Amino acid sequence: MTIPTAPLLELSTLWIQVTGTWCNLTCTHCLNSSGPHNPWLKSLDTDMVIRSIKEGAELGIKEIYYTGGEPFLHKDILLLTAHALEVAPTTILTNGTLITDQVADHLAELAQNSPYSLEIRISIDDVDPEKNDRIRGQGAFSKAIRALQVLHSRGLLPIVTATEILRDELPEGSGMYEQFRDLILSLGITKPRMKIMPVFSIGRMEGEGGPLLTPEMLDGFDYSLLQCSETRVVAEGGVYACPILAGLPQARLSEKSLKEAFKPCDLYHTACVTCYETGMTCKN
Ligand code: SF4
Repeated sequence: MTIPTAPLLELSTLWIQVTGTWCNLTCTHCLNSSGPHNPWLKSLDTDMVIRSIKEGAELGIKEIYYTGGEPFLHKDILLLTAHALEVAPTTILTNGTLITDQVADHLAELAQNSPYSLEIRISIDDVDPEKNDRIRGQGAFSKAIRALQVLHSRGLLPIVTATEILRDELPEGSGMYEQFRDLILSLGITKPRMKIMPVFSIGRMEGEGGPLLTPEMLDGFDYSLLQCSETRVVAEGGVYACPILAGLPQARLSEKSLKEAFKPCDLYHTACVTCYETGMTCKN
């Protein structure tokens, strides 16, 4: 079967998988199977991240995202955030469990001194602590809530990110958005921000395969609806097509520079069908 490809229309978003798949949690739906032991994708060293930011700046990127794994496990995450904020609006995707008062102080200071915005995205999968912790691990809920509070108290407005993993367990007649909005409001955060994402058949949710995209399905399709048309990801081993497929050999477009990754990417994975059907982007 011919594998369809997506063109890179413009590189606007640079993702950097700073801690590879190294995480302090082992969420059941993690799309890159991150965890504390033997991460299959290693962290990037500080110089490598700084070089990638520099190259991204030369290529005109408009946004930077730090992800993992858990970015706050990187020993230089605050230094790296300072570097990113010199170049573009920056977002850190985190489980929130490592955001102490001290870390929050430092983040607030970085945000205040940058001409660009700093966004912190905190993952929570259900407003019920027990349900959330069934997915994300014991104690994850209370630590994430505390992170929301310490960031908010310092003037940052974190974005809660939830997946639809527990959508089927929603009480009758209630929606995810309303549930999370009410939770955030109950914390005294008067401007709730959130992002809801589908679950992808990849990583710990990888099934026995599934439908794939075909060239016929993409006939006349607007490729700008796929995030791989405007993003690239730096992770161990090179530059990859998108945050969902980062680290996977078939998604690797270059072993070195971002510029070399300016080429079409294969839409070879079942996860691509989810993007195609939902128009989902990992961006804010
Ligand atoms: S998973 Fe989505 S963003 Fe990644 S290559 Fe496939 S279609 Fe593009």
